[in-house]
Amino acid sequence: MTGLIWFRNDLRSLDHPALCSASKNHASVRAVYLLCPQQLDEHGIAPIRRQFLRRALDDLQRQLSSLGIPLDIIDAEHFKHAPRHLQHYCREHEISAVYAHREWLVDEINRDERCAKQLDIALHLIDDSLISPLTLSKSDGTPYKVFTPFSRRCRDLLAAQFPRVMRRPTVKTPGAISAVTPCPIFGEEKDSSAWPADEEGVLQQLRQFCAERAGDYQKHRDFPALNGTSRLSAALALGLLSPRQCLARLQQECGEDIWDAKSDAGTWLNELLWREFYRHVAFHFPRVVKGRAFQSYTDAIPWPNKPALFEAWCEGQTGYPIVDAAMRQLKETGWMHNRLRMITASFLCKDLHIDWRWGERHFLEHLIDADFASNNGGWQWAASTGTDAAPYFRIFNPTTQGQRFDPQGQFILRFVPELKGLQGKQLHQVPATASYPQPIVDHKESRNITLALFQEIRD
Ligand SMILES: Cc1cc2nc3c(=O)[nH]c(=O)nc-3n(C[C@H](O)[C@H](O)[C@H](O)COP(=O)(O)OP(=O)(O)OC[C@H]3O[C@@H](n4cnc5c(N)ncnc54)[C@H](O)[C@@H]3O)c2cc1C
Repeated sequence: MTGLIWFRNDLRSLDHPALCSASKNHASVRAVYLLCPQQLDEHGIAPIRRQFLRRALDDLQRQLSSLGIPLDIIDAEHFKHAPRHLQHYCREHEISAVYAHREWLVDEINRDERCAKQLDIALHLIDDSLISPLTLSKSDGTPYKVFTPFSRRCRDLLAAQFPRVMRRPTVKTPGAISAVTPCPIFGEEKDSSAWPADEEGVLQQLRQFCAERAGDYQKHRDFPALNGTSRLSAALALGLLSPRQCLARLQQECGEDIWDAKSDAGTWLNELLWREFYRHVAFHFPRVVKGRAFQSYTDAIPWPNKPALFEAWCEGQTGYPIVDAAMRQLKETGWMHNRLRMITASFLCKDLHIDWRWGERHFLEHLIDADFASNNGGWQWAASTGTDAAPYFRIFNPTTQGQRFDPQGQFILRFVPELKGLQGKQLHQVPATASYPQPIVDHKESRNITLALFQEIRD
């Protein structure tokens, strides 16, 4: 009997529990991916992300075909049609069971429940996280709302039982698949070739980071001019790599240091745990997935939402060099450094007084690594509406952030070339004569307005 692997955001052949289970339990195995271009349009998924996805699917097809497993890419149009397409496919290919990794967002949970009901065979949903968000709760049985105790608990669990990385299953029928049909283009694309979309390329990226840069992660990670972070977020978002593979490689290079949250390697593990934490939040508090704030009282903030200010932010024309360089990096490259995501998100909400949901959507529309839970968590953190929120009165000063994290302006000058020739303080507070906009808001005044907006709804 034939088993089916339903690939979703787990486009790899290594360390793939669903693939291993299907291969173990069935003499023959097929694989399917349901393309949902209408769904991607609704979420405004970036053209660079679409091309990255298409390239990743092509590589997955090659990997699976070398195992004798055909991967069929089906145009399902929209997510809501998944049950019908899956049922039809299973009947056509006489599938006896379906295997997939569990997804945590409420719409995905509902989709899987509908699929399970409509299929007349078993749908096995397998956990694919670093730790298990569903079972992880505080000692009183309630979900974690604060990152630090969550991460401490995860570390203890991981140290007690180090997660196993699974091998690729053995080849079923050698040479069974002689040719594969490339995935069709499914919407506007932007060049993503700077990002490896094949498993080997991504593994190479991981090995190189762990061997050469993880040891200086703490020192370098906040400086956008340096290549201090892994840049694995796009691969992790589509599941070309699992967090278990990251952890295993990190331990191989950095040893027991990984358990010390203050070490360089331990700090990187912490970032992987932030990713898990935001998944945990999205699962336990599904209102955040439906456009609502985690701190419900903050839904009452009357954000003024001035379109001209939003436009200037999107285009990198605010007159604050670090903000503008960051927003242009996003537009030009489809990626933005974490420190800059925090600065630009804070600036949008607390200097321009624009609803964090506008910024969340803009990021989804441009990021190659767009990930609903991490993006939502990051935006709500910056806007002080989320779990573990920065207190609303802690407001980034965009000028001092620039001075601190890009003191010589090496990053700024890469994306704001019109400031070439300026040095030191002038790079962060640009004189009125330069061919560059003057600040569109006064930070001090904006700060006071933010404090008033929050105080109004707290009273
Ligand atoms: C406003 C805002 C929006 C964000 N949107 C996204 C998003 O759509 N997709 C996304 O993957 N990350 C998002 N992040 C988190 C973070 O900025 C990126 O994961 C990180 O910049 C990716 O670069 P890297 O791979 O070099 O990270 P590294 O520093 O090498 O970290 C390793 C991995 O840990 C995870 N990670 C790191 N920091 C965080 C974090 N703060 N929250 C959750 N996971 C984290 C990522 O998967 C990352 O690849 C957002 C952060 C903010 C403040």
